Amino acid sequence: MDDVVVSGGGPAGAMAALILARAGAKVRVFERARFPRHKLCGDTLNPGALAVLARHLDCAPLLAHSDPIHGMLITGPGGVSVRGIYGPGLAGCAITRSVLDAWLLHHAAGAGAQVEEGVSVKGAAWSEGRVSGVLLGRRDGGEAAHSGRMVIAADGRRSTLAFSRGLARQPARPRRWAIGQYFTGVEGRETVGEMHVRQGHYIGVAPIPAGLTNVCVVVPHAAGATAFGPPAELIGSRLTADPVLRHRFAAARAQGDPVVLGPMAVDTAAAGEPGLLLAGDAAGFIDPMTGDGLRLALQGGELAAAVTLAVLAGELSPAAAHVELARRRHAAFAAKWRFNRTLRSLVTSPHGVVGAAVLARAVPSVFASVIRYAGDC
Ligand SMILES: Cc1cc2nc3c(=O)[nH]c(=O)nc-3n(C[C@H](O)[C@H](O)[C@H](O)COP(=O)(O)OP(=O)(O)OC[C@H]3O[C@@H](n4cnc5c(N)ncnc54)[C@H](O)[C@@H]3O)c2cc1C
Repeated sequence: MDDVVVSGGGPAGAMAALILARAGAKVRVFERARFPRHKLCGDTLNPGALAVLARHLDCAPLLAHSDPIHGMLITGPGGVSVRGIYGPGLAGCAITRSVLDAWLLHHAAGAGAQVEEGVSVKGAAWSEGRVSGVLLGRRDGGEAAHSGRMVIAADGRRSTLAFSRGLARQPARPRRWAIGQYFTGVEGRETVGEMHVRQGHYIGVAPIPAGLTNVCVVVPHAAGATAFGPPAELIGSRLTADPVLRHRFAAARAQGDPVVLGPMAVDTAAAGEPGLLLAGDAAGFIDPMTGDGLRLALQGGELAAAVTLAVLAGELSPAAAHVELARRRHAAFAAKWRFNRTLRSLVTSPHGVVGAAVLARAVPSVFASVIRYAGDC
């Protein structure tokens, strides 16, 4: 039996596995994909996310594969534009998820975690009133249990463990979808992430290494509404119709196929249940407009690891661990969750967008502070 089974080797799972393995726990990570793998993301780590990584790892080799991000440019209707810099000595970075995630998981394995790639977790094993491991698919189509004293679900926003245990659900609203694609030949790239907020949608743009530009368009799409058509056409039409971006993308060329993901929002009812802890997007996700998902995922992995270590040391009962994790997550994240919720409702309401544009024009310093707070500086 392992001390800890981690489902998912993305940032949250790899961070938890790294900490636990370094502390001497017997950890096994089951990861559905084989790394390096692509993951739809804006590909930016904010300063807060880099700070979490730097608590555990020498980030210099990672940063060698990245470009610096010094702040954010936000544009809105009516030509409003605010540029905020994180501050002296503070920077985030742009890096593809295939590089970031493989680097982190490699370090977890180097610390002693047993990493099994290409293995999907199908559900939770249950005994004596608590989660006691995970169920894995067998070649004959059946399922086999793999036991762990504690299980960490870090298997992303559609977490098999959280959904199958009834801890997560897709809410009726908001129903927003993200479509992401890389481009070359984009004009006016700077060392800032960009958020172009429009009536009814927003477009995230980030300059990433090798001259590529990451574009993510986020659109609402109600249940039962007609399909929004081919994703490449949707991205193309939003870019060509956009007053700020159309000139900059006039000579741009798409690289690879677009990736579509949605509906994005997932609500969770708890931070786990007896024997099971949730980390990263598996613990809840709304949408990526604040660009801090990776910071929350990495720190969520840290928190899940700390609570697990308390269980392994006999200081906390496995049955109470999820309650303690919920308490620590609330202490660490509640203010940021409130801030993110407020910002999201502002930009999804037509009046909110116009009001914010008026405010940004009148008092740009307010938005510069918002950018620093969103960046977890
Ligand atoms: C369009 C978009 C843009 C974004 N842009 C940014 C950004 O610029 N900056 C930022 O900080 N955040 C951004 N985010 C948020 C960020 O991508 C997530 O918060 C982050 O990936 C969460 O990490 P995670 O480890 O929890 O989950 P994931 O990164 O999703 O990793 C989960 C892992 O679990 C594996 N897995 C899934 N199911 C199973 C299973 N059943 N068994 C085994 N393994 C499984 C998956 O293969 C995956 O490797 C963005 C999100 C979206 C959707």
